[in-house]
Amino acid sequence: MTIPALLVAAVVGRLISTAALGDAEILRHHTIGRRLSLEPDDLDAASKDFGGTVTVAPLAVLRPATTGDVAGVVHASYRSPLAFPVSARGHGHCTGGQAAAAGGVVVAMTTERRRWERREETQLGMPEYSPSYGGYFVDVWGGELWADVLRWTLRHGGLAPRSWTDYLYLSVGGTLSNGGISGQAFRHGPQISNVYEMDVVTGKGDLVRCSREQNQDLFHAVLGGLGQFGIITRARIALERAPTRVKWIRMLFADFREFTRDQEYLISLEGRPSGERFDYVEGFVVLDDGLINNWRSSFFSPRNLIKLSSLGSAATSVLYCLEVAMNYDDSTAGSVDQDVAALLRKLQFMPETEFATDLPYVDFLDRVHKKEQKLREEGLWEVPHPWLNLFVPSSRIADFDQGIFKGILRRNKVGGPILIYPMNRTKWEETTSAVTPEEEVFYLVAFLRSAVGDSPEELQKTLRYLTRQNELILGFCRDSGIPAKQYLPSYGGRRDWEEHFGHRWETFLRRKMEFDPKGILGTGQGIFQLNS
Ligand code: FAD
Repeated sequence: MTIPALLVAAVVGRLISTAALGDAEILRHHTIGRRLSLEPDDLDAASKDFGGTVTVAPLAVLRPATTGDVAGVVHASYRSPLAFPVSARGHGHCTGGQAAAAGGVVVAMTTERRRWERREETQLGMPEYSPSYGGYFVDVWGGELWADVLRWTLRHGGLAPRSWTDYLYLSVGGTLSNGGISGQAFRHGPQISNVYEMDVVTGKGDLVRCSREQNQDLFHAVLGGLGQFGIITRARIALERAPTRVKWIRMLFADFREFTRDQEYLISLEGRPSGERFDYVEGFVVLDDGLINNWRSSFFSPRNLIKLSSLGSAATSVLYCLEVAMNYDDSTAGSVDQDVAALLRKLQFMPETEFATDLPYVDFLDRVHKKEQKLREEGLWEVPHPWLNLFVPSSRIADFDQGIFKGILRRNKVGGPILIYPMNRTKWEETTSAVTPEEEVFYLVAFLRSAVGDSPEELQKTLRYLTRQNELILGFCRDSGIPAKQYLPSYGGRRDWEEHFGHRWETFLRRKMEFDPKGILGTGQGIFQLNS
């Protein structure tokens, strides 16, 4: 139920005090009243996230229909003597309460997307070509899911965004607030490098259009800005002509140095014409808690699995799986197999461990969703996820392997896949808020853990165990002087945040003072406190 208009005053009263009657008027003017919910189910849903370990209740949930709704609620808080926290929430797929607004308003950005699909709002853009960008683009609402952006752009011109995440049921505003990375990042950079323009509601409630040319500081602040400087209501996303199919290949390495050498060789080909490089490079670690069990993917056929089991003793040590993909369409269908073979000949993987599949481009991009459906059926999706994502500089990745994969995690349960793949720092803009190691090549190492147990006690035990592993990994990096940076960071206090940002902290702080001086936005990240 949406609360009736008469109750709005009470809601607003609870939120911003009865003294701020002017603000109540703003809320009404922006139709916020009808869209502000105090329903326990809505509050409950907005209190939790994919991590499943943190519960932080807001006072209300706003389902904005327009940018004005978003601006209205932030403006009301900013103008009130008793400011209240406001946090944008995308699809709630963070894992540490980052989208929460304790005692304030969660702006649920994804909920009105059905209206968009019906084009009731004029904000949904048709893909267009821009000579000044030298490419296609589409304008999308900040709460749009990437899966829907893909569907829309494919339908209108056979186009698709260039840079992806592995999983598409994430919101545009949510990934742009972090980085948005996948195996295409070495070619196109993260998603934050593939945005031309944004509309942003700042912490003062102002709606500001920004780009690399206009209001640059806000543009760069918001990208990778952890929701601290503004709420992205519209983003202009770079597009490319979508390929139709993909050759997707996995192969195993026993030698970590050969594995990373080959990964880095493949990403060094990023500027080559298509056919002379892969379009996607990722990889993952296979620990010995069961080679087959660890590969929870529809990728391998039953025949592959028999072959994998026959690896015998090799399968009892730590293995590394390189994963690559080459896109193609009718014009390159005749040469793609030869092109793939020519590239594979340059790699040092274990003979007989090459597994290939061929699938439509959309199925490739949507591959994790298939796993999600399977895990949901098994009741294994909505469980606690104590994830840890790190960027590790290339010069220390061998030490990381020795200390973590062959050390701390050896012969231990890790609770899920461990992704590892390199990226080029030159594809990340220095001026954004995103933090990476200082070296040109760095790796994402993602521990994507799920805590499960036969009983609540067992589950808590597993959760503690996996959380402890995360602490040990971070401790190892600290003690060994490995300058790893958390991606999708989660820290306990201000000092940790300052260390995370390093020499960029001053800029981060200055931008916060400028764009959200009262600390209204993104308090769930735990970087700044509300300063009313
Ligand atoms: P939320 O979790 O709702 O929000 C995250 C942060 O962004 C919060 O601080 C929130 O306040 C802020 N925010 C949300 N919307 C806006 C907005 N419109 N304007 C300003 N701030 C906003 N990440 C990758 O980079 N690559 C991957 O391959 C990848 N795979 C994933 C797979 C799964 C199954 C899951 C659960 C997550 C994955 N992620 C990946 C992480 C993902 O990028 C983050 O969870 C991110 O937070 C996006 O999720 P969301 O849209 O649900 O945002």
